[in-house]
Amino acid sequence: MTDNNTTAPSDSSTPVTVTVIGLGLMGQALAAAFLKAGHPTTVWNRTASKADRLVAEGARLAPTVGDAVRAGSLTIVCVTDYRAVRELLGASDVDLDGTTLVNLTSGDSAQARETARWAEERGARYLDGAIMAVPPVIGTAEAVILHSGPQSVFEEYEPTLGALGTVTHLGADHGLASLYDVAGLAMMWSVLNAWLQGTALLRTAGVDAATYAPFARQIAAGVADWLPGYAEQIDRGSFPAEVSALETDARAMAHLVEESEAVGVNAELPKLFKAMADRAIAAGHGGEQYPVLIEEFTKPADA
Ligand code: NAP
Repeated sequence: MTDNNTTAPSDSSTPVTVTVIGLGLMGQALAAAFLKAGHPTTVWNRTASKADRLVAEGARLAPTVGDAVRAGSLTIVCVTDYRAVRELLGASDVDLDGTTLVNLTSGDSAQARETARWAEERGARYLDGAIMAVPPVIGTAEAVILHSGPQSVFEEYEPTLGALGTVTHLGADHGLASLYDVAGLAMMWSVLNAWLQGTALLRTAGVDAATYAPFARQIAAGVADWLPGYAEQIDRGSFPAEVSALETDARAMAHLVEESEAVGVNAELPKLFKAMADRAIAAGHGGEQYPVLIEEFTKPADA
């Protein structure tokens, strides 16, 4: 993403006192990136020994969470889950009034909104965040980190947060970062599962995964190019079959199911594709284009 709400890593920001609470694999990478960018960094972790390497690199280890929060003008929290966040920041010696909190712990959108309300009631300015990267790439442009919450808070700390990776502000709704996070995961697993299905099919004919991978990559990239046009159809709520009709896709899905069964590989995923298309066709959408399936995706499966 390269819009105005996105910043790639840079070393040029003014030093800001930063606190990192939670020094698991991810928290350690976050604290190391702040130190590398020249931000005075205070850390706290339940298991204090995980701070040793960071302390050797110049971090200050706070004795308590309350002390850690007081030390930084910006506090990052990155622990296992939101329950741990609330447990730590709800302790009696922690004063959130006037603090700026960025919660990079993974969770769902309801937890993000609820934690935002909770923190704001205690006087904190709160951004929720989602890290779509693994620890080794933190501090590089490859680390995509999404934020949601008040734009003014993001803008104030954007140069500092930029030490962690390519940071983006998605909007004022605190739940957005979590929603984008799971949406991205849905994309990732769908592409991987589709590739594995094809790989399983081809292996029955002696084609190895490495031979199929470049072809699969080309197909995935080609399909990705369809997204902007299909998105326009979804946003308009109109699905003229400009390229192919859903019933044509459904016939190809039947081949995929039959081929999978015939060669003895798992047909669950192809059957799921077909079941969803069949429902949309039964609802009268067979002559429309593929993205009309959004209607199946926007309601619970048993509706
Ligand atoms: P991790 O290595 O398992 O570390 C978990 C951290 O949470 C540790 O600092 C742990 O403290 C702390 N913690 C858990 N429960 C606690 C409690 N009740 N009180 C105090 N501290 C508690 O996990 P991680 O990989 O750093 O992940 C942290 C967050 O980043 C998760 O929400 C994860 O989903 C997210 N994330 C991780 C990755 C990744 O690739 N690692 C990628 C994207 C997002 P102790 O050290 O004392 O156990």
